Amino acid sequence: MPELPEIETIKNSLAINIGALITRIEVNRSDIIRRQDFPPEELYGQRITDISRRGKYLALSLGTDHHLVVHLGMSGRFYMQPESEAISAPHVHFIIHLDNSFKLLYQDPRRFGGIWLCHDTKKIFALMGVEPLSSQFNSGYLTKISQNRKVAIKTLLLNQQLISGIGNIYADESLFAAGIRGDRPAGSLTAAEIKRLHRAIVKVLKKSIEARGTTFRDFRDGFNQSGNFQKSLQVYGKDKQCCCVCGTVIKKEQIGGRSSHFCEHCQK
Ligand SMILES: [Zn+2]
Repeated sequence: MPELPEIETIKNSLAINIGALITRIEVNRSDIIRRQDFPPEELYGQRITDISRRGKYLALSLGTDHHLVVHLGMSGRFYMQPESEAISAPHVHFIIHLDNSFKLLYQDPRRFGGIWLCHDTKKIFALMGVEPLSSQFNSGYLTKISQNRKVAIKTLLLNQQLISGIGNIYADESLFAAGIRGDRPAGSLTAAEIKRLHRAIVKVLKKSIEARGTTFRDFRDGFNQSGNFQKSLQVYGKDKQCCCVCGTVIKKEQIGGRSSHFCEHCQK
């Protein structure tokens, strides 16, 4: 599933479409629209004034009261293609035609994602936790949400109502970088460990954004190109391979129902 760095990469690559005008929208599967405050036709003739990200959501704003919010679910892609080029990809459910000779395609074979047409994004984003790359996310905040909690620290990192945008890949990578096992009760982390974990999360997310995200299978950026951070992964997807730091075989176990990768030697 695309996480914060992947959505941030799509946002950055689609920024060249800010200012473009929507000429027409094609809806090939109406069930992909999860919320509809207004019909898609209401966007015709409106200009994209901003493209932003919140957690794992991407939002195209057309002025202040029309927003098109995209979530890619497990396997979705959202990318631009020249208007002159025919669509050959399967499972393209939603197409936004622009006046800048491009069109934006929403492609999603498994359809766990969707599109929200809304007047106000606040309702959709109301329950979302802090952005991990904002100043609100600091050691103090991480201490506050971990204190006296028995839940595994990895499960806590994945809770979108506490921190938004971290998924399985970046939780595993951050915990490895911090040298902390994901199955430790959140409340057992020392002040020094919390500090290390906070730093590791920020560093891993920023490095992945620099590398244009991780392509494991499905992720493509706004130009329909793969990311590069998969080459820098240390533990995620590396079970039975050797830890690059100590040589111990990387383990894969379930934590809170999620496949988790870690080094027993490097992570305590
Ligand atoms: Zn190791």
